Amino acid sequence: MADSIAVLGTGIMGAPIARNLARAGFEVRAWNRTRAKAEPLADDGVQVAGSPADAAAGADFVLTMLGDGKAVESTMTAEAGALQAMGKSAIWLQCATVGIDANDRLAEIAAKADVAFVDAPVLGTKKPAEDAKLTVLASGPAELEQRCRPVFDAIGQKVDWLGEAGAGTRLKLVMNSWVLAVTAAVAEAVALAESLELDPSLFLSTLEGSQIDTPYAHIKGGAMIRRDFATSFPAAGAAKDSGLIVDAMSSSGVNADVARAVRDKMRRAVEAGRGDDDMAAAYLVTAPS
Ligand code: NAP
Repeated sequence: MADSIAVLGTGIMGAPIARNLARAGFEVRAWNRTRAKAEPLADDGVQVAGSPADAAAGADFVLTMLGDGKAVESTMTAEAGALQAMGKSAIWLQCATVGIDANDRLAEIAAKADVAFVDAPVLGTKKPAEDAKLTVLASGPAELEQRCRPVFDAIGQKVDWLGEAGAGTRLKLVMNSWVLAVTAAVAEAVALAESLELDPSLFLSTLEGSQIDTPYAHIKGGAMIRRDFATSFPAAGAAKDSGLIVDAMSSSGVNADVARAVRDKMRRAVEAGRGDDDMAAAYLVTAPS
């Protein structure tokens, strides 16, 4: 019989993850706070559940892909939450980006409930999620790695098992500190080119193939030049993650000058009403108005 998995949270990332798990042969039950967003998954063979507990009951795995640590915690622990419905051999795969403190708290909640916990945030946005090409930064008890592999292989092209739970979350913050800084820097380079009355595409064509090139600059820079803010990674998520990065840097004594500036820019994009747009909308609070 196929392994069963509950996917809690069917937003930009959770919906394609649920679809790819169903395509890979898992029996998938999905739950989303706003049920209408989960309904289209039924066309892909995913069962839509009425509560986190209904999704989790009898499942081999419970995968959380919700906005932040608080949303994950309440979905797992509230009345009709998933945790109380999980069987003793079920594994909780925590894939949302929640930061170090929330990850520690969630691991503790799992331990108290005697549920196995794997910290497994992912790298890659909407398109890699749709194409099952995420990178999974997994960490947790080594003896769970083999059981979890088929799940991660169904959603990702690269799975790194990094050691004890918490290592995945830490590396995710490191990776996002780079991604978010690049996006903010690209917004400023595009805005500077335009305000110096240069064709901003010269920035990208001059980068291309050089030692200082990076594919991400073309993805985000191209979107900014086209004023195309269709969402892959929402500005609200970027503001949340850059806050988690500043917290991690501050508590470990790293001078977070760039991370703070990135966080403030992403927060300004949210305050300007662009929270649901892609984080490329950071351009809009960078260019002269
Ligand atoms: P999203 O599209 O905004 O989806 C957020 C999900 O969380 C939705 O299902 C939403 O439910 C749910 N949610 C939010 N607050 C909730 C609460 N209090 N209780 C219950 N459910 C709640 O976000 P996303 O981009 O898929 O991101 C999900 C996670 O993946 C985040 O931690 C994000 O940082 C991480 N991530 C995102 C990307 C990316 O590129 N998008 C890449 C890697 C990792 P409703 O539909 O009811 O609002």
